[in-house]
Amino acid sequence: MYFYPDMKNLQPSDTARLPKVLVLGTGGTIAGVSTDHPAQGAYRAAALDIGQLVAAAPGIERLAALQAEQLASLDSKDMRVQVWGALASRIAAWREQPDVAGCVITHGSDTVEETAYFLQCVLPAGKPVVLTAAMRPATALSADGPRNLYDAVQVAASADAAGRGVLCVVHGRVHGACDITKAHPTALDAFSSGERGPLGFAGSQGVLFTRNVPAPNVACLLPIPPAQPWPRVELVSSHAGADGAMVRALLAASSRGELVPPLAGLVVQGTGGGTVHEDLQQVLNEAEATGVRVAYGSRVGGLQGGLYDGLNAVKIRIRLMLELAADRAN
Ligand code: ASP
Repeated sequence: MYFYPDMKNLQPSDTARLPKVLVLGTGGTIAGVSTDHPAQGAYRAAALDIGQLVAAAPGIERLAALQAEQLASLDSKDMRVQVWGALASRIAAWREQPDVAGCVITHGSDTVEETAYFLQCVLPAGKPVVLTAAMRPATALSADGPRNLYDAVQVAASADAAGRGVLCVVHGRVHGACDITKAHPTALDAFSSGERGPLGFAGSQGVLFTRNVPAPNVACLLPIPPAQPWPRVELVSSHAGADGAMVRALLAASSRGELVPPLAGLVVQGTGGGTVHEDLQQVLNEAEATGVRVAYGSRVGGLQGGLYDGLNAVKIRIRLMLELAADRAN
């Protein structure tokens, strides 16, 4: 565990004036180290710890009194629900402390939108919870991680960020957890909030919110699933020639007891406006008749309106998993 600023060099009155922010490290490219020349692409994700990331962001200690903890060290393509559970519990406990302003999580860019949306579903709106990521490893030429981390701390320490739900700060933009998606494999500006656009900006001029979103409705909150394993929800896609063979295979394996936990839900990435190939639809109807919950999204982005308004399919999957877990607990 690291504390910033270094108390040895500061008077208690200096640190007392700063907002208190928790920074949780989980790995990702932001903590990556190049394995060849720093200008080339090869690197190992999750190689540095959170103390090293904070130390590489000059001036960050003037923004907030930071407490940095390493919660996990993984490439976020390998994200697991156990890490989500631990993150949510840690943040919930921390936010209860009266002198705490907010929390920052450093994360891999691949699944940051999933972790952000999961936290949005289980944490009440209140003190800022801000995720950040990077597209270049920490040792790359012009690494983007230090700037992104600096901006994320600015947002977490800002009173204006409170009550807006879980936020992601990358490349100078503040995105909402429901809207953000990774839209480019390599560009520094890899994230998009689609038609709705980012909520605001963070940079050398400070933090500016340009769009208001309604504070997330408390009625939409779902409990953190208490026990492992969480209900199994699989993602399937509709496409030319989609005949439901994948769904049939899942149903068969589940009924033979080969899937642990068994299949509880399916999310369909439909075409365009959420339409589904007729052959796949027939098998989905059969799945529903056996008690499997089926939810529909689109492979071209979030559908407007309805239960899963604006959510892409990976986020619908998280929502359905949490809903099924809540039903199981009741
Ligand atoms: N695979 C990396 C991760 O998600 C990519 C990144 O962080 O940019 O952890």
